Amino acid sequence: MKAEIIAVGTELLLGQIVNTNAQYLSKGLADLGIDVYFQTVVGDNTTRLTQAIHTARGRADLILFTGGLGPTQDDLTKDALAADLGRALHIHEPSMAKIEELFSSRGTEMVESNRRQALMIEGSDPLANETGLAVGNAITEDGTHYILLPGPPREMKPMFDGPATAWLRSLMGEEMPLFSRQLRFAGIGESSLEAAIIDLIEGQSDPTIAPYAKEGEVALRISTKAKNAAEAHERIDVTVAQISERLGQFMYAQDDIPIEEAVIRLLRNSMRTLAAAESCSGGLLAQAITSIPGSSSEFKGGVVTYTNEMKHRLLGIPMTQLEGAGAPGAVSESTAAMMAERIRERSETDFGVSITGVAGPAECEGKPVGLVYVGIAQLGKPTEVHTLQLRGNRGVIRLRAVKAAFYRLWQQLNENAGRTGMPLNGTNQSQ
Ligand code: ATP
Ligand code: MG
Repeated sequence: MKAEIIAVGTELLLGQIVNTNAQYLSKGLADLGIDVYFQTVVGDNTTRLTQAIHTARGRADLILFTGGLGPTQDDLTKDALAADLGRALHIHEPSMAKIEELFSSRGTEMVESNRRQALMIEGSDPLANETGLAVGNAITEDGTHYILLPGPPREMKPMFDGPATAWLRSLMGEEMPLFSRQLRFAGIGESSLEAAIIDLIEGQSDPTIAPYAKEGEVALRISTKAKNAAEAHERIDVTVAQISERLGQFMYAQDDIPIEEAVIRLLRNSMRTLAAAESCSGGLLAQAITSIPGSSSEFKGGVVTYTNEMKHRLLGIPMTQLEGAGAPGAVSESTAAMMAERIRERSETDFGVSITGVAGPAECEGKPVGLVYVGIAQLGKPTEVHTLQLRGNRGVIRLRAVKAAFYRLWQQLNENAGRTGMPLNGTNQSQ
């Protein structure tokens, strides 16, 4: 099945909002094994929306609309499609009852236009809206399938994941379900990762291997259609083993988790704790790790020692180390080591991690933009410092520095545990 997504809204064309719905739907459809060939954006205008429908119909079997299901005059998606299909609109009574109930419970008067949210195209199936008022529609005519979803993401997502996905599955009927597993990598860029397995990607048929970039990380999705999970598992395992042979040192999870979560899991398994001293990353590392619920058992806390004064005051690093003629400086291997050691000692944790570097845009201490040192101090072991030369703008360098620090921690924790891989995780059935 070939799909096209039509996002309706003048705000999208004016750049006032970002078309996140298209991204969400594309990802969801890919998980269902449906190929999206086009994404279209059109304003709240009947003529141009009708043109978009005609174009889409010429090149897709499934057309998904988002936006324009609301009560106002500029919400015209249902009207435009109904007119184009030559069908009438009628009120869906259960949705109407829900709208009336809401207004009476609020004690406010319902205006006539609110009735529009209960409209259905004649012959279509209703898609329940769990988080809002506008009912979705799904209809097939002349071999083309149409799905109408609301614009607000908090309404669109549950409607797509629930009733719309169920409707699509029933269309696909007997087709075998798609199973997929995500492999997550850190410490390697997307192009290097792809280059290492290009022959596998090009030679793939089943399972399929799809690379994609995550924030500061890369991932591969391995998918296959199978009668059941066990069969899929077996087939995916073979592909994963091939990939792991080449890239195992970078593969930190067979699960949809960020590297910081993999680090937390390893710390938890080995009952170890961590503290952080950050300079150029300004607390991003602490932010990332504390986004994981329950991480306080492993991550005790951290400091942002952004200036030399604070590196001296909070971590006791001698000023002679940080500045003055011949001093190594704040951005140096030895300062990174000291920061990691001092924060570990002062926090009484098993690990101390530090990040100091030049995030840019200007160089600092005569050191180039992108030079970052990551220190890792571990109780009873020599401190390690990793020198990175990162590319990108300030934001990208900071994010990459944090991801690299987590990757190095992950490596060290794995070495401690005497293994190179990670535990197997389940395959997700996505259809
Ligand atoms: P409403 O009942 O709120 O009017 P609607 O279904 O008519 O819903 P729109 O009026 O097109 O939808 O958009 C409502 C809001 O939903 C927009 O202001 C925007 O915040 C969000 N939205 C709409 N389309 C998108 C999109 N493609 N991606 C992300 N957000 C969107
Ligand atoms: Mg609207």
